[in-house]
Amino acid sequence: MASEYCTAIHKCVCGCGYEVVTPLSPTDWELTFNGKTVSLDPSIGNWSFECQSHYFIARSKIRFARRWKDWEIKEGRKEDTENKKDYFGKKEE
Ligand SMILES: [Zn+2]
Repeated sequence: MASEYCTAIHKCVCGCGYEVVTPLSPTDWELTFNGKTVSLDPSIGNWSFECQSHYFIARSKIRFARRWKDWEIKEGRKEDTENKKDYFGKKEE
């Protein structure tokens, strides 16, 4: 079990006011600070919010991305789960 959790929190950039929590870990997001600007990788998809906004934060600049289709969101989540399984080792049923 991981004993330390790092998270980055920011307000959704579309202006809806929701707080977006991005866990920072090798299987989640990576926050980079180059001394001046921050980048968050990969992109942020707020699928659980009403706005469903999708954007990148690169060098403190927001770049909006295309909204995903329902099946893409599903695929993305599946991939994410599989990545985590691979990373943390497969659990016994
Ligand atoms: Zn929003």
